[in-house]
Amino acid sequence: MFPMEKHNQVAPWLQPLWDSLDFEKFPNAILLHGQSGIGKFAFAVQLAKSLLCEASNVTHKPCHQCEACHWFNTGNHPDFIALVPETHRKLLPQADYEADDSPKKTKAARDDADSETSDKKEKKNISIEETRSAIESLSIGSHRGGNRVILIYPLEMLRSDSANTLLKSLEEPPANTIFILLADRVDRVLPTIRSRCRLLAAPRPDRDQGLTWLNAQLPSISGMKASDSDIASIYDEQGGAPYSVLDSLIARHNQDEKDDLTIAIAASRFLLQSMAQGGRISWLETADKIHKAQYSFLLATIQRWVSDLQLVSQGGNPRYYPKHLSTLKGLSQTARVPKLLQYWKSLVQARRTENHPLASRIQLEALLSQYQQIFEG
Ligand SMILES: [Zn+2]
Repeated sequence: MFPMEKHNQVAPWLQPLWDSLDFEKFPNAILLHGQSGIGKFAFAVQLAKSLLCEASNVTHKPCHQCEACHWFNTGNHPDFIALVPETHRKLLPQADYEADDSPKKTKAARDDADSETSDKKEKKNISIEETRSAIESLSIGSHRGGNRVILIYPLEMLRSDSANTLLKSLEEPPANTIFILLADRVDRVLPTIRSRCRLLAAPRPDRDQGLTWLNAQLPSISGMKASDSDIASIYDEQGGAPYSVLDSLIARHNQDEKDDLTIAIAASRFLLQSMAQGGRISWLETADKIHKAQYSFLLATIQRWVSDLQLVSQGGNPRYYPKHLSTLKGLSQTARVPKLLQYWKSLVQARRTENHPLASRIQLEALLSQYQQIFEG
């Protein structure tokens, strides 16, 4: 769902900056700065990958083929250290994109009365312990004998003790170690750090270029619908930062999905209560209440319920709804087995034609009235 591809490419408006880099004589610290949301992070990730790529005789690094590139892509390169807040960790290459997304609250945050706020704040910060241990580890040589790359973002959020540790490393740079430092606000970076880096200013695209890029990204987000005027207005709202616009669109899209799921869960609950009535189900009312939910979701609920009903009527135990055992037992007393089998076939048939995202009320009425017919009146 998340378009990881966008983080595997350098944005077209940053390409001239990329082309200006000399990989043969790369400085040991660069400070890439520019407005938030214009692709600096993706640029930095590609840069780190290129600096670690072990391919020889290639015109363009990263080669995406060598062992180092492979390690990098799976988030396992031992010589790549990223000091980024939790909010940006998911933008790094990793083997499992579905990695636990749930907020990991520390005890301190949980105990805090204002836990929500402090948790959020914590997620936006770079961990002090991580910084310390990362920088301490630099005294050991690199694992693969080549470069070692440290990416830090956002540099201006580094706490003062971490900043001092970093400064010491910049003053006496360990061998083969390259610092890629990122800042949205270069004026908030300590001048002592700034002066030890090669400064690279990341430009913002012009409006046409930004919108063109954005429109090219959208098809990779399945099911996303956004009108051109919507996109343009969000674009301007976000100060012409295409990556921020894309994130907003994705967030909005996921919110819509969440809303769909909430509707489906509530509908499925109502459906179960109705089906528990057996022959007394008010199928017209039920169809009316649930038809706005996703059809496939409702069908799955009916199918699971009927499957349990079949199991219980054969003396077995319910597989899906064990806590409704007594209801299912009660229903199985009056359920007619041939009708139950027939109904099962209708459900299987219905699932074959469930392509419509929303249930039609008529389809549901038919299915639920047929359900009623299973039971002896
Ligand atoms: Zn490579």
